[in-house]
Amino acid sequence: MYRIEQTDAELLGTQAEIVYELTFDAAERHLLGIELEVTTRGEPCLEFVLPAWTPGSYKIREFSAHFTLLQAEDERGALLPVEWCEKHRFRVHCASAERVRLRALYYGNERSVRTTHVDRWHAFVMPSNCLPYVEGRQQELHHVVLRRIPAEWSTVTTALSPVEVHEHRYGAINYDILADSPIEVGSHTVLRCTIDGVVHELAIVSQEPVQSEWLPDAVGRLVPVVRDFWGGSLPYDRYVIIVHVAPGMFGGLEHARSQVLGVEEAAFREPAAAQRFLRLLAHELFHAWNGKRIRPRELGPFDYTREVYTPLLWLVEGVTSYYELLCAYWAGVLTQRELLQQLALDVERLAHTPGRFALSVRDSSLLAWVKLYAASPDGVNRFPSYYLKGELIAWLLDLWIVSHSEGKRRLRDGLLGLWERTRQRPHEGLTEEEVLHILQESTGVPLAGMLRQWLSERAELPYEEILKRVGLQLLWEHPQPTPQSLGDGIAIAPQLPPRFTGLSLRETPEGLLVEAVEDDSPAAHAGIAVGDELLALDGYRVRTRQQWERILAAAGAPLEVLAASNGRVYRTVLAPELERTARVLIRAEDAAQLQLLQAWLQPPLRAPESLPSAELPWDAGVSR
Ligand SMILES: [Zn+2]
Repeated sequence: MYRIEQTDAELLGTQAEIVYELTFDAAERHLLGIELEVTTRGEPCLEFVLPAWTPGSYKIREFSAHFTLLQAEDERGALLPVEWCEKHRFRVHCASAERVRLRALYYGNERSVRTTHVDRWHAFVMPSNCLPYVEGRQQELHHVVLRRIPAEWSTVTTALSPVEVHEHRYGAINYDILADSPIEVGSHTVLRCTIDGVVHELAIVSQEPVQSEWLPDAVGRLVPVVRDFWGGSLPYDRYVIIVHVAPGMFGGLEHARSQVLGVEEAAFREPAAAQRFLRLLAHELFHAWNGKRIRPRELGPFDYTREVYTPLLWLVEGVTSYYELLCAYWAGVLTQRELLQQLALDVERLAHTPGRFALSVRDSSLLAWVKLYAASPDGVNRFPSYYLKGELIAWLLDLWIVSHSEGKRRLRDGLLGLWERTRQRPHEGLTEEEVLHILQESTGVPLAGMLRQWLSERAELPYEEILKRVGLQLLWEHPQPTPQSLGDGIAIAPQLPPRFTGLSLRETPEGLLVEAVEDDSPAAHAGIAVGDELLALDGYRVRTRQQWERILAAAGAPLEVLAASNGRVYRTVLAPELERTARVLIRAEDAAQLQLLQAWLQPPLRAPESLPSAELPWDAGVSR
């Protein structure tokens, strides 16, 4: 029976018949030593399986490519025959062995939130990459012992529960929990923040010094908001946040008792970057409920060896992306204006995704393995992201429920219904029909038919109609030139708004390259394609994106483009259009609409009176 809950108290002092020993003798060469000892039960052979993917990231990564089995032996050290059956499955013939001991190496040299990374400075071990499970024995206790840790690595952070602290022995009550519990070993900084007596450990893994002292306070504001959203209690007895800080990193991965984030150093000191960082943290924390516990039936128990297909990633990722914004707003990470700006920006982003007409969000979820996680530069034209479209569907659904219940219900009530059902039958995930049914029953608002349409059809979402019901307005505008002056008011040239061409460009040492072209855009009509190099615009040589955009912004008529495709130069004419930007405005017409707006934005579990007055909708005026 699938189980993802574990408390530290359960594991202390336990014994296990499946024990992994991890060693770090060749860490500087990105090699993790793995010894796995299994007590046999008289089986003629044992089968071992390496996962091919990591839950939360829908891509076959073939971890066995990095796994080398050195040998198998019995308790006396006698070698046992090994037979590979499939690319990620091998069999050890046990004869009369009482214990089978495998020796293996894992090459961990990919830096991401979901892959094992080992070097001379640290080891980040993702058990779902590198630790094979014993077929048929996944439900047993599993222990992990860390041995021969380099002297300068003083710290271990993991959501696995300590079994025997002095020997770095940790445990999981089953393989699913082991697979879901990354381990960070090194000389990282650990900060703590205690909420309701539950310790939240923050491991900051960075080569450069970072100013992280402020982070526990921010986490201390976010966690209670998310907790209150879900009814007021935390679902774990300890929670671990591992933050990898490195250039170019941005992303996160959710686990039941932990999360792993990757950010750049600027996330600790630049306000906009810090805001994105905290939104990401809120997102992964929200997943501790929605995604890890409340989950589609296919996402726990898992088949680790192959793709699993679910139409519900709009719920897992889209709804979480929506509440990432609202929770950040409720925690004071975003202002109300910034919340509305972000929603408008996301409407714009989807409007620049022609693929929303090509594939439904439901199918985008089912096909995540070959769409979102295998996106080609043409992907923008072929499918919508279930994160983005799912977020906007969640927003509209929330407003729909608010407006059809006179502000007495919102999407949160539907999610609390899913949470209640999950707590009743935690071992069993949800089907699509169950989700629609529970959302409707828990809110008392007829929504299943409409939601099914939004999920399975490819039409534009009805923003205007639904926003209007609660006193919001979506406004599309052409940005105007912005006057600029310096010193004591000396006017200089106005800042010109950008023009729309449908091109995404990348500057490279070779030149200005086309990364993507939106279907039915000026660039598509001009025949400009992905991979082309842009050489000149309107007779001027262009080498940077800035040059390209400046010439475009000043242009009033179609321009000649000189470009190269596959080694040969061609000429074409590009007719840029005026850019369109979206704004979400508060246009409540009466007290009833204001009440609906307030119901939408009201923090969970708090009376409306306790809203800070600056955050009342009617004080915000016109917001983008
Ligand atoms: Zn997510």
